[in-house]
Amino acid sequence: MRFFSLSVVAIACLSAGSFLAPQLALAANAAATNAEIANTEAAKIEATKTEVANAEAVQAAVVEASTNSNATSAIVESSSEATTDAAANVAATPTRANTFVNDAILPPSITWHGASEALLLSADHEWATPFEQSNGTESPSYDDTIAWLDRLAAETTKLQKVSLGKSPQGRDIWMYVASSEGINESARLKQNTKPTILVQAGIHAGEIDGKDAGMMLLRDIIKGDKSDLLEKANLLFVPMFSVDAHERSGEFNRVNQRGPVNMGWRTNANNLNLNRDYAKADTLEMQHMLRAINVWQPDLYIDVHVTDGIDYQYDITFGYNLAQGLSPASFRWLENSYRPAVEAALTAQGHIPGPLIFAVDNTDITKGMSLWNPSPRFSNGYGDARHLPTILIENHSLKPFKQRVLGTYVMLEQTLKTVGDQATKLKSAIQEDKYRASPLITLTWKSAPLAKGWDFKGIDYKLEQSPISGTEVVRWTGEPKLYPNLPVIAETVPDIKVTRPSAYYIPAQWTQVIDRLTLHGIRLTRLSKPTELKLQQYSLSNPVFNTKAFEGRLTVKADSTLAKLTTTLPAGTVKISTDQPLGDLAILLLEPQSPDSLLQWGFFNPIFTRTEYIEDYAVEPLAAKMLKEDPKLQAEFNKALENPEFAADPEARLRWFYERSPYYDNQYLKYPVYRSR
Ligand SMILES: [Zn+2]
Repeated sequence: MRFFSLSVVAIACLSAGSFLAPQLALAANAAATNAEIANTEAAKIEATKTEVANAEAVQAAVVEASTNSNATSAIVESSSEATTDAAANVAATPTRANTFVNDAILPPSITWHGASEALLLSADHEWATPFEQSNGTESPSYDDTIAWLDRLAAETTKLQKVSLGKSPQGRDIWMYVASSEGINESARLKQNTKPTILVQAGIHAGEIDGKDAGMMLLRDIIKGDKSDLLEKANLLFVPMFSVDAHERSGEFNRVNQRGPVNMGWRTNANNLNLNRDYAKADTLEMQHMLRAINVWQPDLYIDVHVTDGIDYQYDITFGYNLAQGLSPASFRWLENSYRPAVEAALTAQGHIPGPLIFAVDNTDITKGMSLWNPSPRFSNGYGDARHLPTILIENHSLKPFKQRVLGTYVMLEQTLKTVGDQATKLKSAIQEDKYRASPLITLTWKSAPLAKGWDFKGIDYKLEQSPISGTEVVRWTGEPKLYPNLPVIAETVPDIKVTRPSAYYIPAQWTQVIDRLTLHGIRLTRLSKPTELKLQQYSLSNPVFNTKAFEGRLTVKADSTLAKLTTTLPAGTVKISTDQPLGDLAILLLEPQSPDSLLQWGFFNPIFTRTEYIEDYAVEPLAAKMLKEDPKLQAEFNKALENPEFAADPEARLRWFYERSPYYDNQYLKYPVYRSR
């Protein structure tokens, strides 16, 4: 299977080359005409950057000279992979910041300077982004963002704008397609054979760093000296995904985050969290994004966030699926090729990169860190399930906006380089995962300590008794502190597993379920005539509904037992083979014990209601008749009566017979998705 897939890729390379020849010739002409202007622009930008860099270097030196030397050496010691030069860029004096409205209530911040500051244009430069114009404190509105990007796109053919669709409030979700060929159609992008990176900013609209970083990077590609980044890779850039939430903007939207001044809201205009919506895909925004993923077929998906929780030295953290997940080849590429390159670039630019971090206990760091194995409601879990390598960037909310945006820029730039250089390896890993068809699929995970601990670059803290809360409160001191060999607890042990069925069958009436599977890009066929099949079906019992709505849904969990049956399914029944690239995703959406199954999200809630009943006056003679006709039934009933509770419950005794009669609803609590072995 793997070799077959690779040969398909090779054939595509040949045909795409001949198809693209005229396009490349056109692009070359355009480039020649604009060469003079472009060179002038690039020179201007470079000149400005040099000025900024020099000024900042002086500033950094001044700050460093006044730095507490113990604190600085603590960082150097704790930074095993960081170069001394890069670490020296960090002036580790904890200070009370005074830039944003919430600085007064946040822990002390560490004044930061890094080589990446040289990326900034001066505020009055004609191509400064709104972020640069505000000295790294502000992020532009929806209209200002699009106007600025459109002005940039008007300068070039390399940047094209497409709408992924309208938000609930009627805003376009724009995607900018950056390619050296000036492509604006997905079909042509596939034919240029370069790897494609989809960068998505603002799924949580207040966590907007990816937008301002992407604007700067696109500017440097189009107007500066970085156009060669598009020679080996295509970039799809969604500056604002949750567009309506982006416009619910204010100073008080994210209390734990140091800027920008005005930030958007976490959930969309319907109060739904888009990063819980990948599997169920209820929101218009997510439906547009899933279609875009299917149409544009990126090879790498980057979802940019800002995280709070504990304080630590890392400014840019990022993670992806675990080795034990559904895309192990992608994991190996991300872990062994991608991460080292990106961490080296960030470190060289004065940032402190780290893995995705969650403390086991936010008030006691010594308990260690946890690694999470996300389910497909999350971007990174979804990427794992559909074999799209997906990176969750979580910038640290206590680091100032400017530092976070610059770190994101460095990460995105290095991503373009690494993916461009390693296109074949990345594409091979994806193919390997897509056709792996594991016979056992893990639905839920248990945690276990990893063999190796982690030297954690933390921040020191004290616990103080609070007269306000009446208990101990964490006070972060801002002082860097290394926590050597901290335990790491990771969700690496399979809990509930299922065997891979060859196919699922879903009766045609479950239209919403079928629509969702189609939206995900899962291939399905329909039975053209009534067909008798040997199948398996789950019976559900003990359903427990969530006591309150979650993400707009009444979620449910139930026990399930699998039984064999032979049945004739009607024409129009949908068949989903699991022998397809999205077979694993189909399993996670359709197995009842999967936490993100459509069953648990409530798509099948009608099956939990019993709708037909029998009157006592009818069931009593029915029971007498059944007992007379079946002596074995009498023995079973006698056994049931040994339970005193049952024996004392007239309703239960009558129901016992009804449930065994032909009048009983044989579909009640039967999960209407059949499995074929
Ligand atoms: Zn987030």
